[in-house]
Amino acid sequence: MGAEVRSTCPYCGVGCGVLLSADGSGGLAVRGDPAHPTNRGRLCSKGSALGETVGLEERLLAPQVHGSTATWKDALNLVATRFRKTIETHGSDSVAFYVSGQMLTEDYYVANKLMKGFIGSANIDTNSRLCMASTVAGHRRAFGTDTVPGVYDDLEEADLIVLVGSNLAWCHPILYQRIMAAREKRALRLVVIDPRRTASCEGADLHLALEPGSDVALFNALLAEVARRGAVDRDYVSAHVEGFDAALKAAQGSDPAFTGLSRETLRDFCDLWIGTEKVVTIFSQGVNQSSSGSDKVNAILNCHLATGRIGKPGMGPFSVTGQPNAMGGREVGGLANMLACHLDIENVDHRDAVRGFWNAPAMPEAPGLKAVEMFRAVADGRIKALWLIHSNPAVTLPDADTVQDAIASCPFVVVSDITAATDTARQANVLLPATAWAEKSGTVTNSDRTISRQRAALAPPGAARPDWAILAEVAQRMGFAEGFNWDNEAEIFAEYAALSGLARTFGKDFDISNRAKLSSSDYDSMPPFRWPDGPAKSGGRFFEDGGFYHPDGKARMLALAPRAPAAALTPEHPFRLNTGRLRDQWHTMTRTALSPRLSAHLPEPFVDMHPDDAARLGLAPADLLRLESPQGSAILRLRITRDVQPGHLFAPMHWTGETAPSARIDALIASVTDPVSGQPESKAAAVSAARF
Ligand code: SF4
Repeated sequence: MGAEVRSTCPYCGVGCGVLLSADGSGGLAVRGDPAHPTNRGRLCSKGSALGETVGLEERLLAPQVHGSTATWKDALNLVATRFRKTIETHGSDSVAFYVSGQMLTEDYYVANKLMKGFIGSANIDTNSRLCMASTVAGHRRAFGTDTVPGVYDDLEEADLIVLVGSNLAWCHPILYQRIMAAREKRALRLVVIDPRRTASCEGADLHLALEPGSDVALFNALLAEVARRGAVDRDYVSAHVEGFDAALKAAQGSDPAFTGLSRETLRDFCDLWIGTEKVVTIFSQGVNQSSSGSDKVNAILNCHLATGRIGKPGMGPFSVTGQPNAMGGREVGGLANMLACHLDIENVDHRDAVRGFWNAPAMPEAPGLKAVEMFRAVADGRIKALWLIHSNPAVTLPDADTVQDAIASCPFVVVSDITAATDTARQANVLLPATAWAEKSGTVTNSDRTISRQRAALAPPGAARPDWAILAEVAQRMGFAEGFNWDNEAEIFAEYAALSGLARTFGKDFDISNRAKLSSSDYDSMPPFRWPDGPAKSGGRFFEDGGFYHPDGKARMLALAPRAPAAALTPEHPFRLNTGRLRDQWHTMTRTALSPRLSAHLPEPFVDMHPDDAARLGLAPADLLRLESPQGSAILRLRITRDVQPGHLFAPMHWTGETAPSARIDALIASVTDPVSGQPESKAAAVSAARF
């Protein structure tokens, strides 16, 4: 390889640009792209180590059918035949796809088109359901569509940043670095709201160690105080917002004591938030992964809407996504309850428009099964053919032991992945070798709506193929040749961009129709751009002057009541278990474990416990503990630390059945979900802890 290849980091929703070049020994040298607007040359530890993860150890290099190497032709014919026969015998809702925020937008588009337009079911959901579905639901309830109002530059223009349920320093490091760099030049205060003391607290002016699940009570208290101090933006509310009075009444009736915070801490927080006009409230998995996740999101949005602090430089609510292309998946309709381009599956006009655009033979009229429901349907036999793409649900879904058993019981399981060495891949009837990050070409969308190209820097090894090509081949073999005959990913992107123009005619926000006639060479050289990118609007913030997407053009504030986590603490299960990511690991470590320096950071699974609890139980540092919940158990190394509160535990979510047989943390998590978003409550299990 000669010149450097411009691409995008595949880890998190920050979406940093990278420059890739041959390292002289068959691998890749990686550096931050100074020209990318997101990271401006910076990379975090994971991005910097990408070159160490592109080797072929444990790569799946050929199709396998029932454990034996097969040709592509035989494997694809079998997949198409089994899916077609299952649909003929049991109906289109007897099959399902479970896909991934790791997929590129073009791959996502093809999977969604095949399931929703040609198979005629909406049973396609994504591991993004575990990541930010509550944000999608909250945005749609408040704004009428799933729109991130702000841009990353707001983080540097704000005078106050509030992190809610977000360890930004570890999980979105480049955004944290941008905030810290801005702080060196000007006064910018930082508040962290998290039951746990995290690395993000090191630079914080205030840390609110609230009770798990009490975010609605906290932001209700803030809203009530906004009104009491006369800080409501009456002009903005009367022109652009519905539901203010009911939301305020509910907030005033909500008990702040539910947060567990002292009056002084609550007052300090309200002083800062209300007294600082330029405030950005960043929220992430601590908000989303909750049985009241959608309400938590709306409680935050309520405060920004009431003060008119939205869509203006340095102001607004800001969801940061976990996966590199969770946003692209949302936009392309990769969730079971959405169509492409933010169109609505329940809306007959939207459905008919997409049907016409795709010339689709069959469209579902109702949402499909969301992730947790989908695997329940696998367990009880309603789903009889399942295609899992770049995801490891046997480890990552709640009640993981039950999910693993469900997959094992499914009559036909296809796994597309870069490796066969996952708990999920071991259950597959057919394994399809997919291209990995450095071999893939397409686009991703980051958390501030910037769409970037991912470009291939290495040739596909063995028989590996791009996901979109595998999906299109199966579609053609199922008899859907006309809708799936692209020659390259540029043609898919252009089709998708044209569909967004159709969405614009319904008044939708997602519009990239200026790119609908893009040539392959334009696509190849396409620089990062932020949507919308259509005739009506380009690139900036949303909602400074209203323009919401409900039929009356107004936003909705919601009346919200706090709810405790679903799993009650009992004498048998007295500890509240929080779960999360580590700085140097990613998902179930299929990539990051290949890097020795990343694995050296925190090399084994552990659980954090407060010293008072450890003393009461007679435990010492490095003891092995068995955690148990009604769902399952895990064995972890004890760390004693005041970072967690008494009665709380924290454990990372990365380790699998393969790397440490008893450390699958999601085996402990109940499959309880938010009633609106379907997102599981991954951060508030009730468990026991005892020496192993
Ligand atoms: Fe990659 Fe995220 Fe790190 Fe950027 S912040 S280099 S996207 S892991």
